[in-house]
Amino acid sequence: MIEIHDVNFKYLKKPLFQGLDLTLRPGNLYGLLGKNGAGKTTLLKLCCGLLYPQGGTLRVFDRVPHLRQPAFLSDLFLVPEEFSLPAVSGALYRDMLAPLYPAFSRQRLEAHLAEFELPMPDRLDRLSHGQKKKFLLAFGLSTGARFLLLDEPTNGLDIPAKGQFRKILASELDADRVILVSTHQVRDMEHLIDPIVILDSGRILFSQSMEDFSAHYSLLHGELPPGARVLHEEHVLGKSLALVEGAHPGALPLDLEFLFKAVTGRPEHFAAAAPAARDPKEVAHA
Ligand code: ADP
Repeated sequence: MIEIHDVNFKYLKKPLFQGLDLTLRPGNLYGLLGKNGAGKTTLLKLCCGLLYPQGGTLRVFDRVPHLRQPAFLSDLFLVPEEFSLPAVSGALYRDMLAPLYPAFSRQRLEAHLAEFELPMPDRLDRLSHGQKKKFLLAFGLSTGARFLLLDEPTNGLDIPAKGQFRKILASELDADRVILVSTHQVRDMEHLIDPIVILDSGRILFSQSMEDFSAHYSLLHGELPPGARVLHEEHVLGKSLALVEGAHPGALPLDLEFLFKAVTGRPEHFAAAAPAARDPKEVAHA
């Protein structure tokens, strides 16, 4: 479990997080959404121990990230948005780094590279940007680390690769693992990421599973029920498309981009209404 409690962080004199609270539970593929500059990358770096909180507590599977203990590092993998790869072959990279990850699986690496249609590279530094991304995603997802952090993973991937990535990611989710995907490309990750965490100017506006959310809100197209409380509305094909309070018959599956616009447009409503994402087991027993 990843527990972030009352965390403060600022760059020089500019505060970003003040009293940040967030809990991430194993068995989930979280989507961390936010506009550019919302604080997504900073949050990932805090979770990896690359930045230190200036107040509050942060625990990743009961360890303190900034101590960067070997057991912590071998149980976590970050695929940053920007990175470089060394001038070595893919096989040498694998043989050098795999021993750092006790749960690494060579078979999974081979399967993921095959899914991406990427032969084991002769020289990593000579790959295109998209091919480098495929290699690092395939490697990271093969480490068996319990905490995977992927920063804008679909940036730089072409259309077929985005589909291949979704398939690989879905195959890597298991009950012991937390996968945290930060993105502003919500369409690329639709129907895969859940629960959703929405960050805006360093504040968590929303942290909830789609199932919990759909129990309390409906996306309706066409005529709205009388007296419906509308939280966000657009016009599509001459008809109203609206997010309204309450569960209504005929509700459409929730569209993440629409949810994002609704939440960032009415943060005060959702911040007050949204309970923290719950453990699916707790939900099942509720
Ligand atoms: P996101 O990943 O959501 O785009 P970031 O976490 O990269 O957001 O940035 C959040 C805020 O912190 C932005 O205002 C950004 O300008 C600022 N910031 C990020 N990195 C630094 C840095 N190294 N020094 C100073 N300010 C930074």
